[in-house]
Amino acid sequence: MDDDKKFVIELRWDPTLGEWVMVSNVRSARPWQPTSFCPFCPGNEETGYGWRALILENRFPMLMELPPEPSTHRFYKTAKSYGKCYVVVETPEHSIDDLSDLSIDQISYVINLIGEKQREESEKRHAQYFLWFRNKGREIGVSLTHPHSQIYVTPFIPIRVLRELNNAERYWHENKRCLFCDIIDIEKEDKIRVLLENEFWVSFMPFYAHWPFEVHIYPKRHVQLLTQLTSKEIEQLAQILKYSLCGLKNLFSKPMPYIMVLHQAPLKGDHIFYHLHIEIYGMLREEGKLKYAAGMETGGGNFTYDSIPEYNAIRIKEKIEKCLNH
Ligand SMILES: [Zn+2]
Ligand SMILES: [Zn+2]
Ligand SMILES: [Zn+2]
Repeated sequence: MDDDKKFVIELRWDPTLGEWVMVSNVRSARPWQPTSFCPFCPGNEETGYGWRALILENRFPMLMELPPEPSTHRFYKTAKSYGKCYVVVETPEHSIDDLSDLSIDQISYVINLIGEKQREESEKRHAQYFLWFRNKGREIGVSLTHPHSQIYVTPFIPIRVLRELNNAERYWHENKRCLFCDIIDIEKEDKIRVLLENEFWVSFMPFYAHWPFEVHIYPKRHVQLLTQLTSKEIEQLAQILKYSLCGLKNLFSKPMPYIMVLHQAPLKGDHIFYHLHIEIYGMLREEGKLKYAAGMETGGGNFTYDSIPEYNAIRIKEKIEKCLNH
């Protein structure tokens, strides 16, 4: 076997930015499948029948429970890729377009299922973080259209979450308050960027939005982990998620491509200064025009916003109202 073909799955440390890169060539071994084949439909080898939603192991993971020894290097640091990668199949129905097209009851079911998986994973020694995320749209490279999301259980804290944790901890010590609770209060006072609110949750476009149609969803209760939510809170999360996504979907003639991610506290340790939330990045800036993370964003790390969040918030809010009255 050629040296460059050998099986490699490891973490590589970037000493310049102080962050891990997950390296794996498992994916390049992906077998060819006819384009009509859907691995998430009922009745396949892994899926079977008689389910409402499923969590499957990703067959081409970036992380493994028992990873092989990482490579050694005379200068650079590597580590074992401990962890898990899962696919959450959100419905047996292939032709449903988006999470927002599922019933509130079904979305609650999916969130509960993810919560159960989190409970199980948090017992594991190397599990530091449980990242639930959802990529939607061919525009951003999603080839399997069957409604699904993903979970990465990582042996490190993802870098964006780490930045939030550090800022929230500093704020907590300086002000004796939660940064996120204060943001919720300010957004509710300003009103203009608030999109939807129910008994337990509020969704808004943040003052400091990075992506053109960015939506954040916060629980009103100061809570750190998905597994701390009550069943009533989960039900209402399903409601606010459904209608916030529905608003995004109906902004333009084609459904909005987006990335959604759950930010919560790490699985180990005490992070009382943190506040769970969901971030959704709607990636079209106008009809047919995708916002790219290009030179300034990827190369420099700072976003440019080509409108103002207050104006875009009003545009989503109008669509959400239509969804609610539908
Ligand atoms: Zn399918
Ligand atoms: Zn809080
Ligand atoms: Zn966040």
